[in-house]
Amino acid sequence: EAFEGDDSGDRTPRQTPGKLYSKAQPTPVSAPQLLSWSKNLAEELEITYPSPEDLEILAGNRVTKSMRPYASCYAGHQFGNWAGQLGDGRAINLGEWSSKKGIFELQLKGAGPTAYSRHADGRAVLRSSVREYLMSEAMHHLGIPTTRALALVATGDQILRDMFYNGNPAFEPGAIVTRVAPSFLRFGNFELLAAQQDRVQLEQLINWTIDRYFPHLTEENRILKWFAEVVEKTAFLMSEWQRVGFVHGVMNTDNMSILGLTIDYGPYSFLDNYDHNFTPNTTDLPGRRYAFGNQPSIGYWNLGRLANAISLLFEETEGLEEVLSTYEKHFWDHYYGMMGRKLGLDQVGKEEKELISDFEKALSGIQPDMTIFYRLLADLPSEITPENILQHFAPSFYHDLKPVEEDLFTKLITDYAKRRKTNNTSPEASRNLMNRNNPRIILRNYLLHEAIEGLEKGDNSLFEKLQKAMQAPYAGQGFEELVKKRPQWAETKAGCSMLSCSS
Ligand code: AMP
Ligand code: MG
Ligand code: MG
Repeated sequence: EAFEGDDSGDRTPRQTPGKLYSKAQPTPVSAPQLLSWSKNLAEELEITYPSPEDLEILAGNRVTKSMRPYASCYAGHQFGNWAGQLGDGRAINLGEWSSKKGIFELQLKGAGPTAYSRHADGRAVLRSSVREYLMSEAMHHLGIPTTRALALVATGDQILRDMFYNGNPAFEPGAIVTRVAPSFLRFGNFELLAAQQDRVQLEQLINWTIDRYFPHLTEENRILKWFAEVVEKTAFLMSEWQRVGFVHGVMNTDNMSILGLTIDYGPYSFLDNYDHNFTPNTTDLPGRRYAFGNQPSIGYWNLGRLANAISLLFEETEGLEEVLSTYEKHFWDHYYGMMGRKLGLDQVGKEEKELISDFEKALSGIQPDMTIFYRLLADLPSEITPENILQHFAPSFYHDLKPVEEDLFTKLITDYAKRRKTNNTSPEASRNLMNRNNPRIILRNYLLHEAIEGLEKGDNSLFEKLQKAMQAPYAGQGFEELVKKRPQWAETKAGCSMLSCSS
C-alpha cells in the first residue's frame, strides 16, 4: 500500500514506469489437484490442510476479499548485461500472512500472465514446479537460507513448451507452486528505481526494507549499514552453496534476494563429480558464468550492481565502495570456517588454509563425487595405508585413478589424517561435526528427473520418497538407494545433468 502501483488490472505485457507493482489476477485452471503439501511449513505458519475451497485459492481459481494480488516490477542484469524492466512474469503475490513466526508473503508461481510476462504464458510446467517445490524445502532442511514452498498443485491443463529433451515443441502438464518468504524483494527491485533515476521511491523502498527486515539498524548511516548486511548475508549464502555443492545456474541480479535467501529455483543442480567448471544451465554455455566455482565472485559482481543502484542516493561513493570491498573478507571468513567444519578440524590457521587449498586442487583434478567423498572422509579408518585409502574412497570415484592421481590423493589424505589426529577435540566429536556439515542425501538431478517421469505417469512413489529423505539430509542411515553416485546413463541425458533456463 505504501508504494506507487498500477491498479488498472491490465495484463497486457508492457512497461510500467514509476510503478513498483501491477495489480494481477490469477487465471483460473480447469482441474486443480493437490499433489503435495508441506506439512512442516504449514505447521510453522499455522495454516491448516487445504479444504476444497482453499485448494481453489492455491490453484488461482479463487481470490478472497482480503487478498490484493499483484505482480512486482523489477529489473536486472542477466548474464552480465543490463536487461531493463523485468518483473513477476509468472508469479502472483496473494498478500501477507501473519503467524507467530512473523509475516510472510504468499505467492503463486505459474498462475497465469501478468503485466510482466513479456512473450510468455505466465505458466509453469509440472517438471519445473516439482523441482522448485522439492528443492526449496530440501535447502531449508540443509540449513541454507531459502524461500519455501507450501503446496504443489497440478492444474489439469497442458502447456506448450519447446521441450529441450527432444527439441520439439510439446505439451506438458502445468502446475502451480505456492511459495513463501518474508520477502521476495530482489536486487533488481532497487536497480529498477535507480535506472529510472527515481530517487524518491528508491529511498522510500530502502527505508521500508530496513524498517521491516533490518529494524535493528540505527539511524546514522542507515543505508550504508543496511548494504553492509546485504553484503555479509550474500557472502554467507555463497559459502553455504559451496558447502553442499549447490549450483544455482541463473545468478542474474533479478534472482538475488535482498535477504540473502536462495530464490528462483530453475536449472539448478548439485555437483555430482567435483567440478568447478560445472554449470547446469544450457543457456550458460559456453561462457559458464554461473559455474560452481564462479558463484562467490558472481555474488560480489551482483552486489556491485546493487551498490551502483544505491549510489543514486549518495553524493560520494567511497563509503559504498568500502562496504562492498568487505565482501571478500566476509566470504573467506565464512568459507574457511565452513571448510574447517567440513574437514572436522578444531581450528583453521595458516597450515589448515594450505591443507584446504590442497583439497581444492586435488578434488578438482580427480573429481570424486563430492557428497560421497566427504561422508567417507568423516569415516576415515584410524590406521591408514596408501592401499586402504584408495579402497576406502573407491565408491566416490567416477574413473580409475591414474598413478599420479593415486599418489596425489593418498598424500592428501595422509597429510589430512595426520592433521586431524592433532585436534584437541575427540575423534568422535570431529566425526559428528563433519556429519552435521556434509550432507549424505542431496536431490541429485537424475533422481529428480526419475521422480518427475514417475509423476507424469501417475506414479508418485519416488517423489514421496525424495520428499521424506530430504528432510533428514545429514542422517547416518536409511534411503541407501538415494546415496549412490550419478549413474552412467544420466551423465549425458538431457534433464539429468543440464537443463534450460525457463520453463
Ligand atoms: P527466471 O530466469 O526463471 O528467473 O525468469 C526470468 C524472467 O522471465 C522473470 O521475470 C520471469 O518472471 C520471466 N518468466 C520466466 N518464465 C516465464 C513464463 N513462463 N511466463 C512469463 N514470464 C516468465
Ligand atoms: Mg512485497
Ligand atoms: Mg527469476
